[in-house]
Amino acid sequence: MHDEPRFGPAGAPQWFKELRAPTSDLPHLLQEEGLNALEYEAVRWGCTPQIKQGDAERLGKNARKSDVWLTIHGSYYVNLLSKNETLEASKRRLIACAVAAKWMNAHTIVFHTGYYTKKQSHKKDLQNCIEALKGILETMQSMNIQANLGPETAGKLAQLGSLGEILTICEEVDQTQPVIDWAHLHARQRGGLRDANDFQRIVESIENRLGTKTVRNLHCHFSHVEYTFRGERRHHSLNAHRYGPKFESLADVIINNNLHPVVISESPLLDVDAKKMRNIVYQKRRTSFIIR
Ligand SMILES: [Zn+2]
Repeated sequence: MHDEPRFGPAGAPQWFKELRAPTSDLPHLLQEEGLNALEYEAVRWGCTPQIKQGDAERLGKNARKSDVWLTIHGSYYVNLLSKNETLEASKRRLIACAVAAKWMNAHTIVFHTGYYTKKQSHKKDLQNCIEALKGILETMQSMNIQANLGPETAGKLAQLGSLGEILTICEEVDQTQPVIDWAHLHARQRGGLRDANDFQRIVESIENRLGTKTVRNLHCHFSHVEYTFRGERRHHSLNAHRYGPKFESLADVIINNNLHPVVISESPLLDVDAKKMRNIVYQKRRTSFIIR
C-alpha cells in the first residue's frame, strides 16, 4: 500500500515509443518526470503472454527500484459473460495476463468483464461473470499468482460494469479490488459526475461496501470523456474543456477524505495529464494547509 496519491500513464507515452528503448527503461524515465505509477498495457494479447519472462522481470525490478507502482491492463478481447469456447478463450487471456503480472510483480490485473447477453437478465449475467472469475482465481491460486483481479467500471451501457455490479463482484470474489474509471462512470451516467458531491457519493458507497482500506488505496483511471446515449464514445485530454468530468472535483475528494489512490491517466496525453493531475492535487493540498 502507499501513503501518498500516485500518478502515472496507461502505457508508454509517444516520446518513449520513439526512443525504441526496452520497456524496462520506462520506470526510471517516469520517475525523472516525477511520476510513480505505470499501467502496462496488455490490451491486445491473446492466450499467451506477449512479453518475454526476462523482459517482464526486468520491468518489475526497475519499477520497484524507481518506486513506480506497477499494474497491468488485460486484453480487450475478454468476455466473461459468454459461453463455451469464447468463455474459455477469455479465461485463458486473463490467465496469460496474470502470469505476466507474476513475472513483473504487478499489483493488479485490470480487466473489462464483457457485454451483457441478450438472452438473460443482467442479474444472471453478473452471476455467470462471478462464477467465471472464481474459476480464474482458482487457477491463479494454483499457480501462486498473488496479484489482485481488478474489474473496471465500464463506460458503455451494453457492458457489465456499473459501480454496483463491480462492487458486488468484489464482495463475492476473493483477491479482487474495484477499478474505478471515473470517465466511464461519467459516460455511463451520461454526465453524472457534475461536482465533488457526485464523486463523494461514489467514494462513500465503495467504503460502505468494501471498507476503508479499499477506498483509501483505490485504483483509478481518469481522463475527459465524450459520450452518447449509449455511453462512452472516446477519451479526451484534460485540455478538452468541453468534456468532463472535472479532475478538480476528484482532487477535492482525495484531499478531504485523505485518500491515497493510484490515478492512471488514460488521456491521449498520457504522462502530460498524469503530471497535471498530480500538480492539481499538490497545489490544492498546499492551499488547504495554508487556510487551516
Ligand atoms: Zn479505464
